[in-house]
Amino acid sequence: MPEDRRTQKATAPDGSSTGGAATETTAAEAGRRLTPFQAVNQQFERAADLLDLSEDLRIALKTPYREVMVELPLRCRDGTIRTFSGYRVQHDNARGPMKGGLRYHPEVDLDEVRALASLMTWKTAVVDIPYGGAKGGISCDPHELHIDDVQELTRRFTSRIARFIGAHEDIPAPDVNTDAQVMAWIVDEYAKFHGYTPAIVTGKPLALGGSPGREAATGRGLLFATQKAAAELGIDLRGARVAVQGFGNVGSWTAHFLHEVGARIVAVSDVGGAIHDGDGLDVPALRRAVAKAGRLSEASAGERISNDDLLTLDVDVLVPAALGDVLHARNAGDVRAKLVVEGANHPTTPDADETFRSRGITVIPDILANAGGVTVSYFEWVQNLQHFRWTAERVDTELRTTMDRAYDAVRALATEHDTDLRTAAFALAIRRVAEATLMRGVS
Ligand code: NAD
Repeated sequence: MPEDRRTQKATAPDGSSTGGAATETTAAEAGRRLTPFQAVNQQFERAADLLDLSEDLRIALKTPYREVMVELPLRCRDGTIRTFSGYRVQHDNARGPMKGGLRYHPEVDLDEVRALASLMTWKTAVVDIPYGGAKGGISCDPHELHIDDVQELTRRFTSRIARFIGAHEDIPAPDVNTDAQVMAWIVDEYAKFHGYTPAIVTGKPLALGGSPGREAATGRGLLFATQKAAAELGIDLRGARVAVQGFGNVGSWTAHFLHEVGARIVAVSDVGGAIHDGDGLDVPALRRAVAKAGRLSEASAGERISNDDLLTLDVDVLVPAALGDVLHARNAGDVRAKLVVEGANHPTTPDADETFRSRGITVIPDILANAGGVTVSYFEWVQNLQHFRWTAERVDTELRTTMDRAYDAVRALATEHDTDLRTAAFALAIRRVAEATLMRGVS
């Protein structure tokens, strides 16, 4: 086993931390716009209050364990030399190796990666899989780069972080603008340093030890969570009107599964804008069009609307499945959905969350709703470690069991404390991580 540096999570004598975790509430009080990490920690604090968690334990749990930043100079195919910034934040490993995706997007920065890494800690704890949390990213727009440049950038990033990741240390996976191909390049590059190790990443191609069902897993998990909440709210998903923002991995699979159970997908969108049809869009045709052309704008369906308009349509279920902070103080009051299912990570700011609570809109939080992806990543890792492949049926059945159990546990806690699902999910996760931390010993 690699060296366990759990106790190296540094806390300065004044209570501030290396990861800046201790300052977020003061910013909130000052009414400034919260950074993503501050926003996640505000949600943490609400749940920590419910648990009556001590101040020193709060700081220990919020503070990232390690943050790696690398500069990646690259001679691009057009002859220019461009330098990109790469990040890997390892948030917590009390419950197991750290786990989280890798994002390629121009808005990637250290604070966002920190926020996403901490969300992974709480997410893996909510679904009770033996992992901690991490996240990584490169600040770049892969759509502007030649595919060979994306490969070179991935290899350079992998070689720079190779000593910090590992099948029992930190296991990356796909996220925005990364996919099975990117994971395959990581497997190959990592092998140059440590030998062939398929368990170093999840979300791999099947040919390299990927799991059946992994690509669809986040969307499938979202379906299971939506079915549970819809039943509680008396929403019949057959005929229910659904709007989905983002039509990548998460959005398109979610639309597919909800369409399959009879929901009317009245609007979908991608970075180029949204399309709307009150009678319901032909989701299989849209998925085919996007697989062929890459963008929804190539599909001739519905009327064009903006991404902002999609969020406030008169629907039963709204699924933000693109980027963070899209539901905020300025539009939360206009949202007409009864149920918001967070496919994306942190799509709802704390202000919008408060508005939804007061307006009686139910939100299935990211750390529960979109946990299907990391759950099947865990199944993939287990298969890699055992050199044994599960059937697709087994993966889907185990996913349903895990998602349903997590939803029921969160709902029970929410009912017990008369609180919302997000606060309950954070409380459940914090309790589990705190217990593991204290049992292992903080020195
Ligand atoms: P993806 O790259 O496959 O798809 C992203 C989609 O969002 C694309 O359709 C893109 O066009 C669209 N998009 C980008 N910018 C947009 C904008 N400004 N407005 C509207 N749409 C925009 O990424 P993904 O893997 O589907 O991830 C989407 C979200 O789900 C992210 O927040 C990610 O962290 C989260 N998530 C992903 C997984 C996973 O397994 N891939 C798991 C859990 C959570």
